Amino acid sequence: MKAWVAIALTASFTATVHADPAAWTQAQKPFRIYGNTYYVGTMGLSAILISTSDGLVLIDGTLPQNVPLIETNIRALGFRVEDIKVILNTHPHGDHAGGIAALAGDSGAKVMASAKAAWALEHGGDNPNDPQYGMNAPYPKLTKVTVVQDGGTVTLGSQTLYMHAMPGHTPGGTGWTWRSCEQGRCLNMVYADSISLLSNKTYRYTDPTQPERLAGYRTTIATLRQLPCDILMVPHPDAIDFLGKLPQLQPDKPNPWLDTNACRAYADQAQANLERRVKEEAAKPVANHKGANG
Ligand SMILES: [Zn+2]
Repeated sequence: MKAWVAIALTASFTATVHADPAAWTQAQKPFRIYGNTYYVGTMGLSAILISTSDGLVLIDGTLPQNVPLIETNIRALGFRVEDIKVILNTHPHGDHAGGIAALAGDSGAKVMASAKAAWALEHGGDNPNDPQYGMNAPYPKLTKVTVVQDGGTVTLGSQTLYMHAMPGHTPGGTGWTWRSCEQGRCLNMVYADSISLLSNKTYRYTDPTQPERLAGYRTTIATLRQLPCDILMVPHPDAIDFLGKLPQLQPDKPNPWLDTNACRAYADQAQANLERRVKEEAAKPVANHKGANG
């Protein structure tokens, strides 16, 4: 809880944050989500593993201190950490990227990210353009990150993942999509980025000199609305009650996460976040803004 209290005290804008930091470091038994896609994160932070004909893809590393939990989860599923060939990231905040340096070191995997996320990953998340600049402790820096262009792809063996820029929560935020199959039935998997608009005291999404802040987030909402989407995963699983559906995962029952409306519902959440944030900023003119709300 301490981490959350610190964030709450330093944030001047409220935001609906679906996050319980006590759960961020709690072990979660790993499980198959669908086909070759697995959950290997903690109770409060997602890490997604995809097995291919040529090794493993891991998306997100969660916190630095969670690395042993994640590696234990990967092994519990019968995989080898050494077989992780590629590590991707949703966004370069410590709760999703903090463990990547150690995971890349242990596995020898190549780390790949959007250009803006790559810069942040190489600076331990210490990015002056980040809405949460100054609010989060830096994490271990990565020395080499391969840039994936917006709209680009990452292929490992038989599996191709598609990169979708999802700026807003961070400038370099990224969603990843791919197809996973079970008994010949292939579904559109979407690991969409966080959509909360939490920030430090000075960052303004409505800054007229930074029009890309609002425009970028609107593009993210539009992207979420049009993605082929059968199973949605997000960095903070509680944002969509992802783990709440786990007990319904039963043999011969419909997959509990199969919901072709999930991405549109998530886009609706993002739209509501945007409207609330714009109203809040309008109610707090820049001149009166310094020091507001402690
Ligand atoms: Zn974040």
